Amino acid sequence: MFGKGTKLYSILFLKCPRCHEGDFLEANPYVLSQFNKVKERCDKCGLKYSIEPSFYYGSMYVSYAVGIAVAVAIFVLTLIFNLNLRPLELFIAIVIGLILSMPYIGAVSKSIWANIFFKYDKAVAQKNK
Ligand SMILES: [Zn+2]
Repeated sequence: MFGKGTKLYSILFLKCPRCHEGDFLEANPYVLSQFNKVKERCDKCGLKYSIEPSFYYGSMYVSYAVGIAVAVAIFVLTLIFNLNLRPLELFIAIVIGLILSMPYIGAVSKSIWANIFFKYDKAVAQKNK
């Protein structure tokens, strides 16, 4: 399910959507000076990551959905661990969780956005190993 060749692999490990070998970002999402900067091209297969100027603006819609998913996940975790938080405490827990995961949420959103437009190509992947 998480192996190479699946979109989930490319999204979660922030790899090139076409070859799943090259890195998608300039640096780790938590390196804040390079905050979620997408590379110009894939190092391995040469895929141009930006189809058009401001291509990744669309990933903001995706990051909204991913942020909601993280918030719901935090809420469900408080239920599983039976923390019985009051609404304000729950709100603060969700805000802290979102702030801590924000760099990764942004990166994953851009990767999801790219994976909508690019498909995995096994031939390209094997040629560039
Ligand atoms: Zn590539």
